[in-house]
Amino acid sequence: NADTAMYHVKHSGKNNYIFYYSEMKDIINTRIEIEAIIREALETDGFKLLYQPQVDLCSAQIHGFEALLRLKDHNIQPDQFIPVAEDTGLIINIGRWVAKSAIEQFAKWRDMGLGEKIIAINYSSKQLKDKNFIAYLGQLITTHAVKPEMIEIEITESILLENDTETMSFLQGLKDAGFKIALDDFGTGYSSLNYLTYIPVDKVKLDKSINEKFLNLKNNQVMDSLISLAHSLKLEITAEGIEDWNQYWQLKRGGCDYIQGYLFSKPLDSAAAENIFNHIFEIDDENKPVNDLIN
Ligand code: C2E
Ligand code: MG
Ligand code: MG
Ligand code: MG
Repeated sequence: NADTAMYHVKHSGKNNYIFYYSEMKDIINTRIEIEAIIREALETDGFKLLYQPQVDLCSAQIHGFEALLRLKDHNIQPDQFIPVAEDTGLIINIGRWVAKSAIEQFAKWRDMGLGEKIIAINYSSKQLKDKNFIAYLGQLITTHAVKPEMIEIEITESILLENDTETMSFLQGLKDAGFKIALDDFGTGYSSLNYLTYIPVDKVKLDKSINEKFLNLKNNQVMDSLISLAHSLKLEITAEGIEDWNQYWQLKRGGCDYIQGYLFSKPLDSAAAENIFNHIFEIDDENKPVNDLIN
């Protein structure tokens, strides 16, 4: 019975067991429940976007923001509901909603006089079925007078498992229209060098797990090599999931272009993103020498 499965026993000190129920209720949703929730969200304006800064390591300014989808009224995270949206085809309408909302938001910030930043939008390979997605993006940027090169579409290598011809013509269509393409979660799948040479990407985003593995003193040559490799292929490189200064210094030393992670900022709601839009992150070399940060 699903209800009893929701009870969690947690050990809290000596011989104290507490039963948690309510906080788990949102976490253990069946796929059918999640499908109903996302269908409803699409109909009732139940989604929102958060924006996570991507910080330029040279200028310490925000280079762009990644739009990250959330449900307004449910504590169900994308890793849970995106797969359901993909399996049910709802990802197509969701993908359009995300693009529209993100572009509207950035146009609004520009119109307020804040300036322009890159808008990074996640794209699921299941959206390939949406044959008019590029045309839809084109309409949005025309309506809001946004330059296509300000929009970065984040794909993952799973797109290469889809129909080759469709994938390549989609990616080439984005390039022809002037949009940027970033390869997300690099290092988690096959990460073949081969495809980096034939898919038209502008940037690779190194996954958090790769950064964790290779950003320590014993191993930083691997990271330096990855950065050089990207640059040799004329790709920019963003490190994702950066949480501490040790990682920061090693990436800066290695010549990484951008950092995204809790060290600088969690994903922010639009009001908070607006407040830090032109923030320069103070990075004090004197006070935070790399060796002091490594325990
Ligand atoms: P992603 O595109 O790789 O996004 C990065 C994820 O890492 C985000 O999780 C972000 O909140 C999280 N993150 C960023 N910095 C840190 C850090 O320093 N530490 C840790 N522990 N996590 C960090 P989020 O928002 O839960 O999204 C998860 C995934 O869901 C995304 O991974 C993306 O694949 C997918 N997703 C999110 N929004 C959308 C969307 O609008 N459309 C599609 N198709 N997928 C989306
Ligand atoms: Mg992403
Ligand atoms: Mg990623
Ligand atoms: Mg991901």
